[in-house]
Amino acid sequence: MSGASQPSTAFLPIAEPAQMRRAALRLIRLDGRAFTAMIFLNALAAGAGLVGPWLLGRIIDQVKAGAEVGTVDRLALAILLFGLAQLLLARYASYVGHRFGERTLARVREQYTERALALPASVIERAGTGDLTTRGTTDVAAVGATLRDSGPDVLIAGVQALFILGTVFTLDPLLGACGVLGLLGIWFAVRWYLHRALPAYLAEGAANSALAEQLAATTAGARTVEALGLQQRRVEACQEAVERCRRARTRTLFLRSVLFPVVDVSYVIPVAGVLLVGGVLHEHGGMSLGAVIASALYLRQLSQPLDVILQRVEQLQSSGASFARIEGLGLAPQAGPAASPLIPRDDRLDVSNVCYAYDGADDVLRDVDLTVRPGERLAIVGPSGAGKTTLGRLLAGIDTPRTGSVTVGGVPVAGLDPDQLRQRIVLVTQEHHVFLGTIRDNVQIAAPSAADAELCAALAAVGADWIDDLPDGLDTELGQGGYRPDGAQAQQLALARVVLADPHTLILDEATALLDPGTARHTERALAAVLSGRTVVAIAHRLQTAHDADRVAVMQDGRITELGSHDDLVTADRAYAALWRSWHGEPPAATSR
Ligand code: ADP
Repeated sequence: MSGASQPSTAFLPIAEPAQMRRAALRLIRLDGRAFTAMIFLNALAAGAGLVGPWLLGRIIDQVKAGAEVGTVDRLALAILLFGLAQLLLARYASYVGHRFGERTLARVREQYTERALALPASVIERAGTGDLTTRGTTDVAAVGATLRDSGPDVLIAGVQALFILGTVFTLDPLLGACGVLGLLGIWFAVRWYLHRALPAYLAEGAANSALAEQLAATTAGARTVEALGLQQRRVEACQEAVERCRRARTRTLFLRSVLFPVVDVSYVIPVAGVLLVGGVLHEHGGMSLGAVIASALYLRQLSQPLDVILQRVEQLQSSGASFARIEGLGLAPQAGPAASPLIPRDDRLDVSNVCYAYDGADDVLRDVDLTVRPGERLAIVGPSGAGKTTLGRLLAGIDTPRTGSVTVGGVPVAGLDPDQLRQRIVLVTQEHHVFLGTIRDNVQIAAPSAADAELCAALAAVGADWIDDLPDGLDTELGQGGYRPDGAQAQQLALARVVLADPHTLILDEATALLDPGTARHTERALAAVLSGRTVVAIAHRLQTAHDADRVAVMQDGRITELGSHDDLVTADRAYAALWRSWHGEPPAATSR
């Protein structure tokens, strides 16, 4: 694929916050009962946790009032029981939470796979498989970690914090206000930090990568560095990278060194405030000593859920970004217009007045007109970058033309239902994939019900006789730990799949380029025999292919400049004839065999 200038990242869209919220709500609704149970159990656990400090306050008041030891014992026992209840409820809540997280993660994964499989090939090619893979691995893992741990933890902590604050407000609104004051400090500190943390950590990551890159490049090229006397320059470059790292790390250290002390102080302020205000209230008889102590203990308790939230907030932020990328997949452009209900009347391909440009760049196909008759063998030749591959992709319905039309039997090719399209037209390029499994698995993909005899016939048709030498034949395992086919053999497996798929029209984009010239010619002839009566459009890198074809189209600079049979074009004595003569003049390997 010749698309070096194409940016390969950030092509797949990213979901907006509103779309993420909707997606998250939908996921919650899908497992609404578990989610409600998780919240309910957490609320119960938090409620049980609140009883302890209140009972402690009661003990103080009772002791002050001269209560008996038995009363204090009973209250102390109650503290123990409620503590135990809180522990058990919290454990059960987290069990329910984790199950909810796992099920939701499974849904996210399934949805990702469905969406990734539904993406049109052209979208994946342009976005680069790297982006898609990262979303399916790193991003899904980040969301998974949140669903499993951080999400439930933060939810539990949030419920606890709300309950604690609510209780202090109930005891005395003024004391509740002291708690909120402390929280405000944390709120502002965290906002300040988060605002700066993401760019700072990104810069630190980039500086680390740059340093690693410099060191690796210097060591890998040590001999060249020495031979050219570049030591000083390399040392300077590495020092500069180290300095960038130092600056980036100092910055993140500074951010942490502001956040944590502010948070620590913010935990103490409400407790101190409650003791002060509560003391005054108690002095004036507005509040019992027990209530003051209970409030102070509650606010002290508040630091625990807040700590959890603070620790997880960064992870939540980064997994939020991952979720936006996963959800973004659903916003990717879909496979062109809705599948056409029309059935092609025959297999004639018509390219009419077609212009095509990649992503708003200049046209790489200009005013192309071409008709390929059913059963015809057409070779397309021309210099690299002339637009041959692009034309092949339009003929195979992978891309749609910017202007004009590409039709099969009168119906736009790209509008055909994918299954219909693949029965009619198959594009074979140099990119072949060998799937894990046996040779039989690899070839049978094209025709799941094909018997061994058919598989062998297809493999023989493409000249894959190396299979006869394998002791396990069709049952030979391919891939790691098994037999590793080389490029040419992988290509033959792909071609055997095509023979089995038996499409009406075959577009070969340098499909035999990896084979040695002799095998390539043999394979092409064998294929032609198998596919006799089929239409074959071959983008040819060997003029022999053009010689054997019914007609040859010569492409130059996005246009078809010559079109006719080999003999006609040689007689016309233009570019093709010159090419043929210069090629034929030499003793090429392909013709000598
Ligand atoms: P050929 O097959 O004749 O070598 P191509 O069809 O591959 O020619 O390319 C035609 C032109 O389109 C070239 O200028 C190439 O750089 C450009 N091109 C090909 N693929 C892409 C792509 N994915 N994105 C942007 N430009 C591309």
